[in-house]
Amino acid sequence: MKKIIIIFVAVLFLGCNDSDEIDNVDNTLSRQEIEDLQFLKEEEKLARDVYLFSYDLYGQKIFQNIANSEQSHMNSVSAIMKKYGLKDLALTERGKFSNAVLQGLYVDLTSLASRSMEEALIVGATIEDLDINDLNTFIENTNHSDVEVMYNKLNCGSRNHLRAYIKNLGNINVIYDPQFISIEEFDGIINNTGEKCNN
Ligand code: ZN
Ligand code: ZN
Repeated sequence: MKKIIIIFVAVLFLGCNDSDEIDNVDNTLSRQEIEDLQFLKEEEKLARDVYLFSYDLYGQKIFQNIANSEQSHMNSVSAIMKKYGLKDLALTERGKFSNAVLQGLYVDLTSLASRSMEEALIVGATIEDLDINDLNTFIENTNHSDVEVMYNKLNCGSRNHLRAYIKNLGNINVIYDPQFISIEEFDGIINNTGEKCNN
């Protein structure tokens, strides 16, 4: 059994509130909720773009299937942003991000994924691990039920994605240790066979 741990620093901008003005703010969302939604849109794009990168390299269906799901997650975030009149900061070009942290993560993760199919699967598990952890925080930060419903749907999808990557890693005897969520949460997800997420 091989045990591989990827260590990289994912610095979230959570808590980095400053006094920058945000355009087109609908007053009913807090500044934190707005920042979370704008970040999440690009975080979903990060997942999609990294998986498309891996699909182009290895041609494995898992990457394309999950990339398609990430596109639908991006659409779900966009719909909520539109509803509240928020400015979408996401760039359209593949592999390009307006958020510097996500841009750095894209470079690091695609570099890892380019090493081997196994590394690309570990990168996939890492992204889902991070997404679930961030969505847990975003759920705590919102008091709008429509936003929370969307977050829960994306979290459900992320758990399915994580299970898919872990299953594929298991097939080649690679163990993934969670880097963001707790081992208890991770085990709970892995021991569940799958969920229907309504998308
Ligand atoms: Zn997603
Ligand atoms: Zn995902």
